[in-house]
Amino acid sequence: MIKKYLDAFLHLWYPHICLQCGTDQLDNNSPLCLPCANALPLTDFCSMPNNTIEKIFWGRITIQHASAALFFTKESIVQKLIFELKYKHNKKAGLFLGRIMGTALKNSNNYTSISLLIPIPISRNKLRKRGYNQAQILCEGICQVWNKKIATNILLKKQNSDSQTHKDRLERAGQDAFQFYLKDAQMLEDENVLIIDDVITTGATLEAACNCLEKANPNSINIACAAYTL
Ligand SMILES: [Zn+2]
Repeated sequence: MIKKYLDAFLHLWYPHICLQCGTDQLDNNSPLCLPCANALPLTDFCSMPNNTIEKIFWGRITIQHASAALFFTKESIVQKLIFELKYKHNKKAGLFLGRIMGTALKNSNNYTSISLLIPIPISRNKLRKRGYNQAQILCEGICQVWNKKIATNILLKKQNSDSQTHKDRLERAGQDAFQFYLKDAQMLEDENVLIIDDVITTGATLEAACNCLEKANPNSINIACAAYTL
């Protein structure tokens, strides 16, 4: 009862409203109301063999399965959610996106062997500035609906290796190969790893991460992103 009054009181000062439409009729754990959540552009890539995301990596790296849960377009709800996660410290948005990913992965036959989630790491500098790794929040959201182990200290990013956005793909792929390193690589032996990232565009960063993970000889490497840029 006290919690109910406290929630109502807090709502007056800090109203919890839907990111998209502004209604206050929504679940406390969700950044979106139900109608807005139901309108999200799901891809169904998880269950689709040879999907768009897998094709990005054809001829570049050997992966078992790859997917992205949502389509990312400019000025869309998905862009808003990603922005909230990356730049607004909105953990709720990240956990919500993670749960969408987790539900899609759990319902697919292609990811049943997955034993370990690996969030794409960010550099220590960025971690200090932002306070958290957004891919790790996605992993935590995934685990709320699909219980898996998360490995946060095996794949690591070197210092001063961010801000590659303006370089073209080939240049990036070449440079990115040296951006990651492994710690306790033997932990990946026999694991079916699933790399988690927020948005996939060219796949250069993920390609570099896979090249690095391959050195640890895991049983398989898979990729899951929150959104795919059209
Ligand atoms: Zn809404």
